[in-house]
Amino acid sequence: MPAAATVKTRPLPAGLIKLGLSRPIDRVLHFPLRYEDESQVVLLGAVLPGQTVQCQVTVLSAQVVFKPRRMLVVLVQGDLTQASLRFIYFNESLRQRFVPGEQLRFIGQARRAPNGLEFIHPKIRWGWLEPDQPVSPTLVSIYPTTQGLTQPVIARHIAQALASAMPAEWLDQQTLQMLGLPDLPRAIETLHRPPIHAHGPAALEPCWRRIRLDELVAQQIALRRARARRAVRQAPALVDQQGLCDRLLAGLPFQLTGAQQRAWQQVSQDLAQSRPAHRLIQGDVGSGKTVVAVLAAAQAVGAGWQAALMAPTEILAQQLFQKTSEWLSPLGISVLLLKGGMPAAARREALSQISEGQAHVVVGTHALIQKSVNFHRLGLALVDEQHRFGVGQRLALRETVDGLVSHTIGMSATPIPRSLAMTFLADLDVSVIDERPPGRTPIRTRLMAMAKREELAQRLLHYIDTQDGQAYWVCPVIEEQQDAERALLALEETQAWLAPLLGERLGVVHGRMPAKDKQAVMARFASGELRVLLATTVIEVGVDVPQARLMVIDHAERFGLAQLHQLRGRVGRGAGQSSCILLFDEPLSEAARQRLKALYETDDGFELANRDLAQRGPGELLGMRQSGEPSLRFSDLTRDQDLVAFAVDYGQRLIAAWSDPVARKAMGVSMDQLHALLDRWAHQADDLLTST
Ligand code: ADP
Ligand code: MG
Repeated sequence: MPAAATVKTRPLPAGLIKLGLSRPIDRVLHFPLRYEDESQVVLLGAVLPGQTVQCQVTVLSAQVVFKPRRMLVVLVQGDLTQASLRFIYFNESLRQRFVPGEQLRFIGQARRAPNGLEFIHPKIRWGWLEPDQPVSPTLVSIYPTTQGLTQPVIARHIAQALASAMPAEWLDQQTLQMLGLPDLPRAIETLHRPPIHAHGPAALEPCWRRIRLDELVAQQIALRRARARRAVRQAPALVDQQGLCDRLLAGLPFQLTGAQQRAWQQVSQDLAQSRPAHRLIQGDVGSGKTVVAVLAAAQAVGAGWQAALMAPTEILAQQLFQKTSEWLSPLGISVLLLKGGMPAAARREALSQISEGQAHVVVGTHALIQKSVNFHRLGLALVDEQHRFGVGQRLALRETVDGLVSHTIGMSATPIPRSLAMTFLADLDVSVIDERPPGRTPIRTRLMAMAKREELAQRLLHYIDTQDGQAYWVCPVIEEQQDAERALLALEETQAWLAPLLGERLGVVHGRMPAKDKQAVMARFASGELRVLLATTVIEVGVDVPQARLMVIDHAERFGLAQLHQLRGRVGRGAGQSSCILLFDEPLSEAARQRLKALYETDDGFELANRDLAQRGPGELLGMRQSGEPSLRFSDLTRDQDLVAFAVDYGQRLIAAWSDPVARKAMGVSMDQLHALLDRWAHQADDLLTST
């Protein structure tokens, strides 16, 4: 097969590796973000803002403009209406193809602009459709991608993977029929290439369910095996002989809330046992989980062991480091920050402090789980925002010292029902912090139409000038190349618009900036030098700047409910009245209207999670992660309860049959099939599987 051979020898595009798609099976499971229907042509005059459409038009003019930044603006005419197409990334040859009079089709999302509609980075097809030209029998898939990896390239690699690495069905026909599911290859194929008529999410729902079942069973087996191994392992009994926890408590500028005290007692008791702790501290945004984690670290250090604290982003790691050192350094505990991209000498020094044991508490990102990091005596692994890590990553932080494995404690704002924690999550203990620190005034939430943006800007200025205020202004970003460009453009436009008002007081952070620059801007915001932080969702997780009391969410209709709640939780952290303004663009879909309404009506994370579930139609966000459940990409433990029940039951039977060929045969699953199943979800369960 010469074709396959050339594919193998050519290195993969860097973008695929960055997306974690280096194995063919990863590409098979990289599902579209949405679909486009290129079989329909819509009259330009009938298009409404917000719609994604294909139109046939004639070029009127093409011009390079320089405000708010350099871009190509193409004016087109369709039926009796005109619209503009805008390109930020373009080359000379593209510009030259837009000759006046040229006929073309474009596919893109309409946006309201001062004079009519505009389309940012639409897809272009040269020439009009002939009246009887055959159209593709399938919808066109749009994949989540990253900078430098275009849709055609990622689609081609996925198509190749589908041809060479399609997994076989391993469940029996009877079970599939009972659950009303298609077989696995068909489900995968259909999700990548749905027939034209498969419009609307409901048509694809059985396929999604087949994928979720696969994921849930794999996860269940991995968790059960990890639990079995944990049951026979010993951990160091961490007793704070130096009394560090009491001293830390006495020195805090506040008293623990009742809920924090309860959680702390449970954690503290766990750590004093010689059975490895496996606990989740769950509490809404701002409920004060960090101090409980830092107390746990102090207990480990007081017992003569080290503690590690891992966070999902550099910004968050930096903030945790500051908090942790502020609280622990006065007690003589040495706290170290391990970051990616440290200068070689500093890194060597840090690694040696970790392995020699001079560093008592080490805070960091994924950098903590690299092979080169060896702890002297790690007794406790703490994972903040643990749902952002895979099971394997979380467990990779543990270390074994003289046969003793570290305790693990996770933190998350995502509510998990206790019964699920016990059954599906295989005996995960949960401590709930269901009370907020005192002295917080509830956040005032307002909905505001885009048309009132000017008015809002004036209010923002007033707030900054007269109340010494600080504010976040967040623009949406979606992990799809086109949309990321659109978001960046939105950010730049907003920046161009706010900069004259705010001047030096405006700072900007977005995901494509180097981590160092992001941190520098964050630090200037935290110090109060910058008054307004314009950001994409990089600030979503964990950022704690208590004096910021205003959150503006631009295009709030594009965010999911959980994300909106997280963002809003960035304010209301200190004294004084905080506000959140949800700026929305019309027309609002019914689902978006419901989301914003829910947010307006309540600020209780659990209540919002329930409403989210009730409102969310099947697969509204297609392949995007549906919720923050630990390490599940496609499944939602609450929504998919029937599949969860099946996975728990099936997983138990499989584990029982694991080393018994006869029992396994009776279940109709081969060892090869099982390994393939675990392997395809391995980025979540990696070391769980290899270590037995
Ligand atoms: P989260 O649970 O979202 O991680 P944090 O731990 O960051 O929340 O706490 C939010 C803010 O509340 C921090 O500034 C923290 O110092 C403060 N805080 C935590 N506990 C209390 C308390 N009992 N009383 C007053 N403030 C507290
Ligand atoms: Mg936190």
